[in-house]
Amino acid sequence: AHSGPASLLWFRKGLRLHDNPALHAALEGAVALYPVFVLDPTLLGPARVGVNRTAFLLESLRALDAGLKERGSRLIVLRGEPLAELERVMMQWRIGRLVFEADTEPYARVRDAGAAELARRLGAELKTPGGHTLYDPGVLAEAAGGTLPLSYGSFLKLVAKVGEPPAPLPTPERLPPVGDLGEAERSGIPTLVELGHQEKAAGLAFVTPGEQGALATLSAWTSVPARVAAFEKPATDPSAYAPAATTRLSAHMKFGSLSARTFYHALREAERAAGAYSQPPTSLAGQLLWREMFTTIGAVTPNYDRMVGNPVCRQIDWDDTPALLAAWTEGHTGYPWIDAAMRQLNTEGWMHHLARHSVACFLTRGDLWQSWEAGQGVFDRLLIDADWSLNAANWMWLSASAFFTAIDRIYSPVAFAKKYAGARSYVRHYLPELAGVPDAFLLEPWTMTAAQQRQAGCVLGRDYPLPIVDHAPARERNLSRMRAAYARGRKGESPASG
Ligand code: FAD
Repeated sequence: AHSGPASLLWFRKGLRLHDNPALHAALEGAVALYPVFVLDPTLLGPARVGVNRTAFLLESLRALDAGLKERGSRLIVLRGEPLAELERVMMQWRIGRLVFEADTEPYARVRDAGAAELARRLGAELKTPGGHTLYDPGVLAEAAGGTLPLSYGSFLKLVAKVGEPPAPLPTPERLPPVGDLGEAERSGIPTLVELGHQEKAAGLAFVTPGEQGALATLSAWTSVPARVAAFEKPATDPSAYAPAATTRLSAHMKFGSLSARTFYHALREAERAAGAYSQPPTSLAGQLLWREMFTTIGAVTPNYDRMVGNPVCRQIDWDDTPALLAAWTEGHTGYPWIDAAMRQLNTEGWMHHLARHSVACFLTRGDLWQSWEAGQGVFDRLLIDADWSLNAANWMWLSASAFFTAIDRIYSPVAFAKKYAGARSYVRHYLPELAGVPDAFLLEPWTMTAAQQRQAGCVLGRDYPLPIVDHAPARERNLSRMRAAYARGRKGESPASG
């Protein structure tokens, strides 16, 4: 057993041991395995990442380390510019093979091209299998003949043509021990405070980081096949927060502490056990296909996270009004449904899909006419599940910039909330300043008289804002601006290939 290479497995996403193609590639014939995570300063710090996501990451690393230790290995956590750190340890440990999961995000691509170059320079073998999505990057694009469909229906046909995603790989029972580390590891897993966070990560009350937490949540769902079979995304209640009406597995999907294939096949099995079941796009398996579609398109679309130069994105003359963006971000718009969702995002790093619909429509084409890129930036910082492709795609959808064109379907920040029996307790939970407001006024407090406001202990303009925009006229104004943008019909500069 002294002939094979020493493998370095570089974890970035894919923080799991189940169904991990990179782990299998690293193990093949290796004499030693060095599992490494590099805390990259570019991707950290309170200005860039909210406390909930940072805490989720740190706890995920702890869980990964525990899983590795159970199998005779451990996680080596490094801090610094990833390529410099890799070079240092690869030389010290005489690494013969570098392995990491392929990543299609722009920052990752540049970084990973540098890592590939480093491996070449050091004479190490390089392996970069897929693992983040149901299908390997490129497989679907190739089956589509180079041009991916932009509609879900056509995407489903493409997936059907390729066949069911591969079955998950087994979790190794034992791992080779980590060799002598020398001086390589200087710090270990830092605390939140060391990374500059002072607040508490309230969102971790709702999700247990690490693959064991993810797999336990998944089996809680799939052990009740009737629940999986009955799942219809648009019918789930956005005002349900403890517990939520959906799986809340998104943070695990973002960091890869749950494998997409494991998730998908477990859902399919539960569907078969139930007999009759809901279908894509509304079924739970259908949610994973949205993820697949948006990630796959994001992998081949230039400037996917911005309007200009993005060939799938409609060019719209958004306003740029920092005061409106700030009020929306902090949950001070004067619309309790919108503000409760934004406070949930700020404190817990998550909100339900239809709440995301509400606040995204409100910020962009519905009410405030601010660019979707601004909203995307706020979500990117605060969501535990912030995912480059999914965030961009969904923001383009909600702002009618791509994928979606029913521009007169605008969410009312009042009437939509009234559809949900739980909306008032949701608002009371996240907006304590409205605690004393009677139910009849809770979703539209500006309809209270001055005397009623005083009696409720909530004087508008003092305890809670007056609405920063009047929805009905804003809706009409924005709709005509949107019609004009559609009439101009422009998309971003398209590369020759389209
Ligand atoms: P479930 O309904 O239980 O779905 C299971 C899984 O399917 C999710 O965990 C997720 O991985 C995937 N999924 C579900 N809905 C979508 C969708 N619309 N698009 C792509 N994948 C989906 N999701 C993110 O993971 N990261 C983001 O940054 C993100 N940004 C969004 C921004 C906006 C404006 C909107 C409207 C939606 C965004 N979503 C994002 C999609 C969706 O809201 C979340 O994935 C979902 O609410 C997560 O909760 P869940 O795990 O309980 O979902």
